[in-house]
Amino acid sequence: METETIKEAKSFVDEVAAEPGGEKINECIQCGVCSGSCPTVEWWQYPPRKIIAMIRAGKRDMVLSSTSAFNCVTCYSCTVRCPRNINPTQLIHAVEAIAEREGYKPKTPTLTLHRGLRDAMMQGRVWELRLAMLFYLKTSLLEGMKMMRVAWDLISRGLMPLLPPKQTKKGGKEVTAILKAVEAMQKSGGAK
Ligand code: SF4
Ligand code: SF4
Repeated sequence: METETIKEAKSFVDEVAAEPGGEKINECIQCGVCSGSCPTVEWWQYPPRKIIAMIRAGKRDMVLSSTSAFNCVTCYSCTVRCPRNINPTQLIHAVEAIAEREGYKPKTPTLTLHRGLRDAMMQGRVWELRLAMLFYLKTSLLEGMKMMRVAWDLISRGLMPLLPPKQTKKGGKEVTAILKAVEAMQKSGGAK
């Protein structure tokens, strides 16, 4: 039983270490500087330091089904302060990437927004009004209603177009090519 637990821990930590950004996970000294530096930590189910500890303990399902990693705003505070140069920012994104790839669906509006933004980018241009409407339809209609005043202020001042932006075929193809190149780099471990 104990051997099984050690095996599970080893395989999950190896899995994270194989992702771009996860390589130095075994060098973490659990000092907690990353958690103490994180501006969004109050919303994390498990703070960054604990996520690293849980990965090393083999808590795969708990880590991947948690909403924690999706609260990272990529501010890099943890990365510039980490005494071991672990790059917690990228490590947390590695966890996000595994969770996304494996079809985990942590219940967080951040994931809905992330997916909406990614899909909008795939079409070449982001139409903010559509993105906002889809986001509130999928998360909370009530919150969406509350934001209508803000939306109207933005629209009436010309800060949020009512109509979709013009797209060119060429532009759309270029964005798709860029995103495919990024995906290929990530798979080959080249984008760190
Ligand atoms: S700051 Fe670096 S060494 Fe300290 S707990 Fe976070 S990742 Fe580990
Ligand atoms: S990069 Fe992410 S994990 Fe690191 S401090 Fe900023 S929000 Fe927190």
